[in-house]
Amino acid sequence: METSARETSSVKRAVASLTPSTIGVDGTLDVVASRQLRDPVDDGHVDDAVSARLTSVGQRLTGNRAAIVTILRAARRPLTLPEILASGSELAQSSAYRNLVVLEQAGIVHRIVTNAEHARFELAEDLTGNHHHHLVCSVCGAVEDVPASAHLEASLAATVDEIDRSTGFTTEHHRIDLVGRCRDCA
Ligand SMILES: [Zn+2]
Ligand SMILES: [Zn+2]
Repeated sequence: METSARETSSVKRAVASLTPSTIGVDGTLDVVASRQLRDPVDDGHVDDAVSARLTSVGQRLTGNRAAIVTILRAARRPLTLPEILASGSELAQSSAYRNLVVLEQAGIVHRIVTNAEHARFELAEDLTGNHHHHLVCSVCGAVEDVPASAHLEASLAATVDEIDRSTGFTTEHHRIDLVGRCRDCA
């Protein structure tokens, strides 16, 4: 999946004008809030890990894929494909979904399926080190991140130990999606 030189340079321009703290979900400026939930991760570490994971599935980091990763890192919640496209005006629509699938297969992107029309995408937790849970609205499909609380994590760890002991299963991590109605749909 080669990216044309023209496409690559336009994506580089698009990416250069975006920084993780300035892109809102809808592509508008959102300077303060995006830093609140996501702890800044060592940039070099994530970039290296993204490249390594792509290499491990026989793919490489193209301009379009780097742009998608940048947009997802900046977002405060998992994004739909249309939201991703809206955040990077020069992202090629035709290849964006295909690139998301490649990023998902490489373990870089995690897909959250809701009963809304569009699935949502976020960077894998083991990449960002940002463990969190989701509030999933079963009416409008909105998905919000909520930080994991120390109290919940501790009580869950005890429960998981118990389950592992009684089933012989080895739990490596967990995902919690609270499903219900968001503020707007309540
Ligand atoms: Zn809703
Ligand atoms: Zn948790």
